[in-house]
Amino acid sequence: MEKSLKNQVALVTGGSSGLGQSICIYLAKAGAKVAVNYHSDEEGAKFTVDAIKKEGGEAFAVQADVGDEQSVEAMFEKVFNTYNNLDILVSNAGIQKDAPLDEMTLKDWELVIKTNLTGAFLCSRLAVRYFLKRGVVEGISKSAGKIIFMSSVHQEIPWAGHINYAAAKGGLTEFMRTLSQEVANKLIRVNSIAPGAIKTAINEEVWKDEKQVKQLLKLIPYNRLGEPEDVAEVALWLASDKSEYVNGTTIFVDGGMSLYPGFIGNG
Ligand code: NAD
Repeated sequence: MEKSLKNQVALVTGGSSGLGQSICIYLAKAGAKVAVNYHSDEEGAKFTVDAIKKEGGEAFAVQADVGDEQSVEAMFEKVFNTYNNLDILVSNAGIQKDAPLDEMTLKDWELVIKTNLTGAFLCSRLAVRYFLKRGVVEGISKSAGKIIFMSSVHQEIPWAGHINYAAAKGGLTEFMRTLSQEVANKLIRVNSIAPGAIKTAINEEVWKDEKQVKQLLKLIPYNRLGEPEDVAEVALWLASDKSEYVNGTTIFVDGGMSLYPGFIGNG
């Protein structure tokens, strides 16, 4: 693999599993030193770090709750103390706490908003502060910094029974666009990825059940579930100078899920 991220430092939140883990490995293979954030799954983070080191890459694990201001500040401090730099933030950590609105507790509403939306605010705020202060470093990247948010097709597709999640991802979309509008003239690039149904722990009970997979495939014109690597490829591209002119947009990685496939053959 071409070392498109040579001498760059990346912080990936939720790097102990699923999409975050795969993204950490892809960024490291492209030459980035990777700070692998985890919340409670220390083993998972260790797996990610070991996988990177086995391939000759550099990484370390850093614990933090992305929804907690002090915890996020301490995480950034550790990243700067360890690698003395930051070029790429992948704000990926996210959770689901599903229930229809009439049954949803305030606690589950707040936890999802706190993790999926406030987490993006807290992490990107510190990244932007640093990128603004540092600016472009000649010979490293054409941009002063790159931020990638992990959104979802549900930033656009309503999702009954998951109103906290859909509201967080919808909010994240306008957050991302507004931030990009704020900082693009400082050469800071901000974009989102909106995955469809990718096989990770977050939706394990669906893809491990044949019946549910059959139902789900009706929503995916490309007719297969996604793999974490489908998303990691796009994250790598967004993190590199190859996408330099891409600003404030969302790339859907969903096998066509957002194309309203219910309309296929309909009239
Ligand atoms: P996952 O459950 O494997 O990963 C979520 C990660 O977030 C875990 O590593 C978890 O430890 C971490 N996390 C949770 N709360 C945290 C906190 N407070 N602080 C720090 N880390 C925390 O699932 P995934 O599919 O890899 O999810 C990653 C992102 O992708 C999420 O934002 C999710 O909403 C999004 N996404 C996933 C899919 C999919 O089909 N898998 C689809 C659309 C969007």
